[in-house]
Amino acid sequence: MKIYMHWDMEGASGIFTREQVWYWEEGVPEHVAEEGRQLLIADVNAAVQAALDAGVDEVIVSDTHHGGGNIRLDDMFADPRITYHDRSVGYQDGERRWMPGLDETVDGLMLPGHHAKVGTAGAFLPHTWTGQWADFLINGQSVGEIGIEACFASHWDIPLILVQGDTAGCREAEQQFPGVITAEVKHAEDHDSCSGLDPESARLLTGQKVTEAIAKLRAGGFEPIKPTLPMTVTIRMKSVADASAACQRPGVTRLDDYTVEGVVSQQCDVVKWILGTGLDMPEPTVAR
Ligand SMILES: [Zn+2]
Repeated sequence: MKIYMHWDMEGASGIFTREQVWYWEEGVPEHVAEEGRQLLIADVNAAVQAALDAGVDEVIVSDTHHGGGNIRLDDMFADPRITYHDRSVGYQDGERRWMPGLDETVDGLMLPGHHAKVGTAGAFLPHTWTGQWADFLINGQSVGEIGIEACFASHWDIPLILVQGDTAGCREAEQQFPGVITAEVKHAEDHDSCSGLDPESARLLTGQKVTEAIAKLRAGGFEPIKPTLPMTVTIRMKSVADASAACQRPGVTRLDDYTVEGVVSQQCDVVKWILGTGLDMPEPTVAR
């Protein structure tokens, strides 16, 4: 059994403040950024160990927060059964792509460290991908990063089996993916802060949920949820200028001042039409 863990950071154990996780913002002290990073690293190590203890043959870890680069490979639990990708875009068989290693050989997708979609009330740092999107819809259903990433994985019939995050993120996952196992490690106090289980208890809970999700997967308890094709993807932008810029991409239709839409023929193209992020990504052009 092979598990893919796609790690974000807002929903990780013990991360309770905006500064710990949006560390690139102005004025964040280095020690606070480091504190957040250490919490994420400890969380990844605990979850991976739980998966291996549950008898998984292989775990792929991908670091997606802010594009990646948050985990430190030297600090990660080392085991030949684990592959770490410290960026969410990388190489597989020489091809540049999103979520390297995610393919038909993977049995289950886990989305730990995740958060609710943009605009969610009572959520810690809710957002969807870039700060430019006010809403993202797949075949008319509003989704966040959980829905987008699960859609990408559904191209290979991989079910979403676990989400770890705050209360709002877990509820969102359960509503869109009935039967998904959730590790609810905290709840929002306001947009920028939250509280919840101390880091150690949160890691323990997450490990238990990882074990539970793997047992359920082994028993055939998950079905992938695949959006029907062709798939209509709609984005409401926060600004008219962003909608105008998005329309310059091939195949993008403008519905109104703020809203653009694309129709794609495979689930793995869910964000490729708008961001270029997906399979077969061209090499980035280096600006000099
Ligand atoms: Zn993030």
